Amino acid sequence: MFLSDDLQQLIQTFCKLPGIGPRSARRVVLHLLKNKHSIVTQLKETLEKVANHHRECTICGYIDSRNPCFFCTSPHRDPSVLCIVADTGDVWAFEKACFFKGQYHVLGGMISAFHGKRPEDLNLASLKNRLSNVVKEVILAMDGTLEGQTTLHYITSSIHQWAPHIRISGLAKGMPVGGEFDYMDQGTLISAFTGRQNVPHLADSIQQWR
Ligand SMILES: [Zn+2]
Repeated sequence: MFLSDDLQQLIQTFCKLPGIGPRSARRVVLHLLKNKHSIVTQLKETLEKVANHHRECTICGYIDSRNPCFFCTSPHRDPSVLCIVADTGDVWAFEKACFFKGQYHVLGGMISAFHGKRPEDLNLASLKNRLSNVVKEVILAMDGTLEGQTTLHYITSSIHQWAPHIRISGLAKGMPVGGEFDYMDQGTLISAFTGRQNVPHLADSIQQWR
């Protein structure tokens, strides 16, 4: 084989990253080999630092170097509005658009029969603890996929049980199915938020998971 075992292993490792196919992986590895001194050393140190010093916030689940995280400790974030997202990457997308000033709750995924992700695998216990009288509204920022909508209805039913006084809203219709928030432009994201609508309580949706 013209590629050494280590090189093959490195290429295969890069292939496990989202959006990286074998061709891109080979290009990245070749670039690293050609720039051993300028990039590899820095990459190694930074990866170690990031991996060792970033954890999920025990309050909201956002991945940060601080615990509690930036959002949970900032005096400039409105604790009365909670935006629930599937992933830390969704928070990055919303923050890039610079319009939401409330706090977040990161679920760590979505309910998915296909991927074997159950409600108990999500960051829901800490969500229940957060729903004090301070929280007036919860915005469910889920996409239009089956997983997104299943998760939305499950959480809606749960919040109705835990804290019936809280307004629950979902993003405006028109969100692309499976469209990642990170790829949406600022205007679309803002109109999805400002046009948000109350989510109806589907009592049956929680039963199917019990
Ligand atoms: Zn937090």
